[in-house]
Amino acid sequence: MDDINSAMESVKIGLSLLGDSIGLIKKTKELLPEGDEKEAIEASLIQADKAAKLAESQIAQALGYKLCQCTFPPQIMLSQGYKQLKHHNEEEFVCQKCRKSSIAPPAPPINFG
Ligand SMILES: [Zn+2]
Repeated sequence: MDDINSAMESVKIGLSLLGDSIGLIKKTKELLPEGDEKEAIEASLIQADKAAKLAESQIAQALGYKLCQCTFPPQIMLSQGYKQLKHHNEEEFVCQKCRKSSIAPPAPPINFG
């Protein structure tokens, strides 16, 4: 199991490097003159960016991470430790983008008025 995890970790590092490279190309792109070519480069960068993020979330899911669907590709929810609930402790996962918690807030009282 550890072998799988470290393999996945390497893939993740590779992907984050890919993400960095995409970021770097994006900056370089700013230096290009306006025109069709710039637009084409821009479009393929957006695609590459999306593919890298999608691959990352697929790996996260394979590793058992929870995903938040506030964006596409989805955000990876990270553990915030255990949260004390009424009857038990539950591990809480929070989306880094929209801050949504995996633990639903208590439902408001039903108002029949
Ligand atoms: Zn979210």
